[in-house]
Amino acid sequence: MSFKAINLSESMIKSLNRQKYFEPSQIQLRTIPKALRGETLMVQSSTGSGKTLCFLIPIIDSINLSKQETQAIIIAPTRELAQQIYNFAIPFADEFRRLKIRLLKSGEEIENSMKGLSISPHILIGTPGRLSEVLAQKHSTLLNNVKTIVFDEADMLLSEGYFEEIDKFVLQIKNPQFLVFSATLEANLAHQLEKYVGPNTPIVNEEVMTSSNVTHYMVDIKHIDINNATKQFIDAVNPYLLLIFASKKETANSVYKFLKLNGYKAGLLTGDLSSRERKNVMKQLQNDKIFILVCSDMAARGLDIPNVTEVLNIDLPNNLEFYYHRAGRTGRFDKKGKCFTFYNNDSTRKPLALISNGLSFEYLALKEGELVSGKPIERTHPSKKHIDPELAKEIKRISNQSSTKNKKVKPGYKKKQKQAIEKAKQKHRREIIKKDIRRQRVERYKKEGRNNG
Ligand code: AMP
Repeated sequence: MSFKAINLSESMIKSLNRQKYFEPSQIQLRTIPKALRGETLMVQSSTGSGKTLCFLIPIIDSINLSKQETQAIIIAPTRELAQQIYNFAIPFADEFRRLKIRLLKSGEEIENSMKGLSISPHILIGTPGRLSEVLAQKHSTLLNNVKTIVFDEADMLLSEGYFEEIDKFVLQIKNPQFLVFSATLEANLAHQLEKYVGPNTPIVNEEVMTSSNVTHYMVDIKHIDINNATKQFIDAVNPYLLLIFASKKETANSVYKFLKLNGYKAGLLTGDLSSRERKNVMKQLQNDKIFILVCSDMAARGLDIPNVTEVLNIDLPNNLEFYYHRAGRTGRFDKKGKCFTFYNNDSTRKPLALISNGLSFEYLALKEGELVSGKPIERTHPSKKHIDPELAKEIKRISNQSSTKNKKVKPGYKKKQKQAIEKAKQKHRREIIKKDIRRQRVERYKKEGRNNG
């Protein structure tokens, strides 16, 4: 389906086509018409789904260019994201010639941010702190005609505690349309957002949490240390552009140093870097100076790094939601991608949780520096794991009694053995229930005794 199926202006279609956007993505189809009608929306969509255009297209197409007024504010949690949205927005000025967009991001001199605002840019894009500094303190008149507010990566805005800053200016705007985008919309976040969007805003969902363009792999690294496993993996896969994720910045640092030491063209992206260093890394990536980027989850969140062919999780994040964010770095739009995850066979809890979540994996193993096909991760049956020692003893006794070592076994002994084991198990279960009843009774007596003085 082409963009023409959506009620967009001629200029917008022209501009989109000139930028080589011909067909809307799923989430664009489902959000843009509603946003154009002025509806407030909460959209659950992962990066790579085309969510930036979900808000830029309706905002730009609804701007009244004959009025030099600020009509939309887009809030993103990091400078890089704000910059990225700005870079996405600027090419629309080819058709919308009078369109003025201004980026206000932390890290630059505040005097610079304050400059040039007297013309009231149509769209402001920025980070919460800097927007609040500019709008709540000096330029609050810019808020008078704002019609649309975007919260991009809203879950991150919440987890980083940015809503306090945001409230300082957003609450001054009368009845704006809110466009909220978040990879996850958990109850806590939805509750927090009610203040802005009202209690009954429906959530526009993406069909699936991960792109179908991504193939997921579990790699058994057979207890090789992480640094060497990563090196062997890179040599075996020979990636074009690889993002490596680590849950802890210490691990990211260590892998990065090891790769550099071994002559790989790698960069590091963690929250500790100054904005200049981060910019530098992104530039190196763009100029093909590096082809491996070792990242922490927060640092890489939402960044659109085109052409990532492989993602490697050297460990899994505690919050498994991040797995989807990581995997979403590759297979963007219509490209194919691969997401690999290291594991050892004694640490399968998190991989199993992902499998229970409905993800399907292909299995590989590192063997003498090669990636060979591996065995699926098996779930150990919980009853085998937590069997009571007394019951285990009894089952062993029954098995020994009628084992094949005993030469004079009667016919049908296997069936009888099974029945005896089942009986022992039932007896054990009854014992547990009886014990529970006794415990509850004692507790009740104690409580009643207390109440009677
Ligand atoms: P996003 O989810 O906004 O970070 O976008 C992911 C990537 O998809 C970006 O590189 C966009 O340029 C690309 N993209 C978004 N929408 C479209 C579209 N309708 N057609 C082709 N590419 C698109």
